[in-house]
Amino acid sequence: GGGSRGKARPPKPLSFDQIGGQDRAKQELVEALDFLIHVDQISKFGIRPLKGILLTGPPGTGKTLLAKAAAHYTDSVYVAASGSEFVEMYVGVGASRIRELFKEARQKAAKQNKESAVIFIDEIDVIGGKRDGGQQREYDQTLNQLLTELDGIHTSDTPRILLIGATNRKEMLDSALLRPGRFDRHIAVDLPDKKGRAHILNIHAQNKPLHSEEVNLDKIAEESFGFSGAQLESVMNEAAIYAMREEGEVINQRHLSMAIDKVMMGERTDREATH
Ligand code: ATP
Repeated sequence: GGGSRGKARPPKPLSFDQIGGQDRAKQELVEALDFLIHVDQISKFGIRPLKGILLTGPPGTGKTLLAKAAAHYTDSVYVAASGSEFVEMYVGVGASRIRELFKEARQKAAKQNKESAVIFIDEIDVIGGKRDGGQQREYDQTLNQLLTELDGIHTSDTPRILLIGATNRKEMLDSALLRPGRFDRHIAVDLPDKKGRAHILNIHAQNKPLHSEEVNLDKIAEESFGFSGAQLESVMNEAAIYAMREEGEVINQRHLSMAIDKVMMGERTDREATH
């Protein structure tokens, strides 16, 4: 987008410290990514390349953010697709989209002189769902293409390719995707605990005027039990809207409490609407 502005602003690289909570997921991810970075060591020990990392957990917990940070951490180019793109694609189109995605990653890396590329596929269960023989399976070719691409990754390749998949329905995935040499690492990205929620709130408060003496984000973290990172981002945003409407100068604790209610209500009406 932004065509009329002429120069498109490059996306800001996303680092792990802009992701709140998820300490364990971050640590596991970094350990896995070091396999991508220290490739000489890896081949010296005859370790096979890490090809795929699967991030599993509920929506809005930061899986996309982790994938972007992974690209930044490994100095890789980043390309992304979502399983939902593949819904209602004609037979064969999905497979060529997968081929294109890997090609795009290689070309982008070559162009930017990078040694590695991260390919992120959100909602990977849509294309990687169980193939339960017999039944009509419009995604078979797409999944087969994905497996072919994964099997074609070698340590000596330039650029090195890492596939990161995300799903909130791991049990739906075809076992072929979960075999060694495919999605080798599974990392749980769960809802944040209280400390994680406070961290996330603080991150999203960075660009907002808070009533510094009055606002207690730890208290808001306590009151937002069960919220995802995406919902906490909404809380900060809604609180800012309340503050702005009141024509005050800053966001205070009451705005934040109202925002919690609003986000909670929103979730409820969403759910009611779908039932
Ligand atoms: P989905 O499975 O629905 O695609 P996701 O797990 O990929 O969700 P993200 O897209 O990474 O979630 O998060 C959505 C938004 O929520 C982010 O852009 C960010 O604003 C906020 N967010 C989510 N998790 C975090 C977090 N751990 N720290 C900071 N912000 C977060």
